[in-house]
Amino acid sequence: MKEAFRRIYGGHPEGVWAAPGRVNLIGEHTDYNDGFALPIAIPQHTLVAARRRRDGRLRLHSAQGGGPVIDLHVAQLTPGAVTTWAAYPAGVVWALREAGHRLGGADLHIDSTVPAGAGLSSSAALECAVAFAYNDLYELNLSAPALALICQRAENGFAGVPCGAMDQLASACCTAGAALHLDLRAGAHEQVPFAPEAQGMSLLVVDTRVKHDLGDGAYAALRTGCERVARLLGLEALRDLAPEDLSRAGKALPAHLLPLVRHVVRENARVTDAVSQLRAGRPAALGPILTDGHASLRDDFRISCAESDLVVDTALAHGALGARMTGGGFGGSVIVLAEEGRAEGISAAVTTAFRAAGYQVPHVFPITPAAGARRIA
Ligand code: ADP
Ligand code: MG
Repeated sequence: MKEAFRRIYGGHPEGVWAAPGRVNLIGEHTDYNDGFALPIAIPQHTLVAARRRRDGRLRLHSAQGGGPVIDLHVAQLTPGAVTTWAAYPAGVVWALREAGHRLGGADLHIDSTVPAGAGLSSSAALECAVAFAYNDLYELNLSAPALALICQRAENGFAGVPCGAMDQLASACCTAGAALHLDLRAGAHEQVPFAPEAQGMSLLVVDTRVKHDLGDGAYAALRTGCERVARLLGLEALRDLAPEDLSRAGKALPAHLLPLVRHVVRENARVTDAVSQLRAGRPAALGPILTDGHASLRDDFRISCAESDLVVDTALAHGALGARMTGGGFGGSVIVLAEEGRAEGISAAVTTAFRAAGYQVPHVFPITPAAGARRIA
């Protein structure tokens, strides 16, 4: 990173920061419903080499972004002004200023091992790496959760993606060997020990290579739909509905809206259940919870796709403990929990099934719960 920085900008960066991508074990489309989620950070991460500037310019370069250095000015950042990938890092600086922090410019060089658009939160990894760099360089003394909320604000208000806060909280607050139990309403989180490999299990990511696009309106429509249903039911958020109240809620709603509610309500219960199983030392019990979660996203929330369903079905047919699509939906990645001895067979079977179906060959790789954002040099 230091060598690349020197080639691009000349001189040395003041430091290098890292922030990971994430997979969500369970709790999908619950964050913006004030609910619960249970993500882990993955070993793939985004790096930022950074140096302050006195003249207020913000220069951005990314090994993945392509193209020349992008030259902006901190004082001139306004939503809509940047429409390329640079909206994510520039948005973080904008959101920090909006929150009242006094900041100068910077030279930033970015490089990443998180595949973009694969549902593994390359956007949150990028935002968090930049936020943590700015936090240290300009001595803002913000906590990891506070920085995560700045990053969410950047993605909502500057990049124009109406996401909840789960991705950014995962990238900022996860720790190695643990899942992060998030309560989005309380703004609280706790670490729940989770080390599948130490208990003879493998956690696989299958990147279906079907590109999702959270900006395409489908995600926004789901979010607005959930908020509208909550209002119809007289609730602050769908978080406030218990599973046992679902049938009563069903009578108060047009029939086509019930599956939306059912997913969110049961998904919150699945997070609570998963946390109890992990705390009781039964990680294998996550399997059926993941698979139930997938069925709910496929049949009730309707955001899966043929490729993700094929991964789940094939993995289960080859002995997986459980599998589900993860992330916002419409493609992206699937996670598979399996006994260690079965991982290779599952991986081969999924690849064979994709070939037979005429789909692009998927990327399959094992992951372990990794560390959250931090300074590394
Ligand atoms: P996901 O977060 O699931 O990977 P998103 O659509 O939310 O998918 O974010 C992907 C976008 O984030 C990319 O299209 C690009 O604009 C930006 N991005 C992520 N990582 C990088 C990077 N290393 N360099 C430049 N842009 C990046
Ligand atoms: Mg994203």
